Amino acid sequence: MPICYCHTRRCAEDGGRELDFRVYRQHQRDDVAASYSQQLISQNPRNEAEVLSTIESEILRATLLEPPFQTDMMQEPDILSGNHSGSPSVNSNTLPLPRSSNEEIQLKLTLENLQKIQSAVRDFLSTTLRTLSDSALGLGLDRIPTNYPLNAHVEWFLKQRNTVKTFQGQLSSPLLDVLIGLVLTNINDTLCHIREHYNQWVFPVLHHFDTEKYFSHPLRRANPLVIQAMTSALLLNLLGGISRDHSNFILQSQASLVESAFRLALGAEFDPKLRDLLKEFPKDIRTARKRFDLEGDI
Ligand SMILES: [Zn+2]
Repeated sequence: MPICYCHTRRCAEDGGRELDFRVYRQHQRDDVAASYSQQLISQNPRNEAEVLSTIESEILRATLLEPPFQTDMMQEPDILSGNHSGSPSVNSNTLPLPRSSNEEIQLKLTLENLQKIQSAVRDFLSTTLRTLSDSALGLGLDRIPTNYPLNAHVEWFLKQRNTVKTFQGQLSSPLLDVLIGLVLTNINDTLCHIREHYNQWVFPVLHHFDTEKYFSHPLRRANPLVIQAMTSALLLNLLGGISRDHSNFILQSQASLVESAFRLALGAEFDPKLRDLLKEFPKDIRTARKRFDLEGDI
C-alpha cells in the first residue's frame, strides 16, 4: 500500500499515511487540484487567458495522459503469482491490465466533451466581445427584447452552461471540477457582458433621459407650514366641494393664525425671515392649486 504525503488531507503533517490505492489516488489528485486553484487565485488577471490554457493543459495531462490508474495497478503486489516484488514485467506478461475501468472511460469522455465546449466557448466569446464593442450593434431596430441582436448568442451560451453543469459532481475528480469551474466562469462572464449591453440597448431611456424635472417640484423647497395650510384648503376645495371664496377664507385665516402664533411667541417685531415666510402663504386657492401642480393643461 502506498504512503501518502499529501497536504490537502494532511497526510504530510502526520509524517505520511499508508492508504488504500483508491484513497491514495484521490488524495494525490486533491493535492494537484488545490495547487491549480491556488495558482488561479494568485495570478495576475492580465495573464488570465494564458494561465487558463496552461492550467487546462496541465489538468488534461494529469488526468488523462498520466492517469494514476496504470501505475497503481502495476505496483500492486502480485498475489496470484506469489511475486511480491511487484515487478512490472511479470505483471504485463501474465495479467491484462484493467486500464479502461468504467471510471476512466467516463472521465475521458467528460474531459473530451468539456475540452470541446471550452474551445468553442473561447472562440465564440472573442467574436461576441468584438460584436459587443461595435457601437452600431442593434441600431435602427425596435428596442424590444425579442429584437435584441445577441439573443441567439445568449441562447447558445446558456445551452453550453447547462451541458457543463450536468458534468458537475458526476465524477470524483477534483481536477475535472476545477476545469468545469473555469468553463462556467468563462460563460458567466460573457453572459454578464451581454446582459450589460442588453440593458443599455433595451432601456436607453434609463441612461440618457433627464428626470430632474420630476424631482424638482416647487413644493420641495416650500416651508412645511405653508404646505400644511395649502393642503387642508385644497382638500376642502377639491374633495369637500366648498367654493373658491370660502377656500380663500380658509387659506387666509390659516396664514393669520400662524402670524398670531409668531407674535405671541416672539413679540410684535419677530424675525424678518418669518415675515417672508408669511408672504409664501397663498391668498387665492387657485395659486395653491398651481403650486401643487393640480391645474389642468388647457
Ligand atoms: Zn493524503
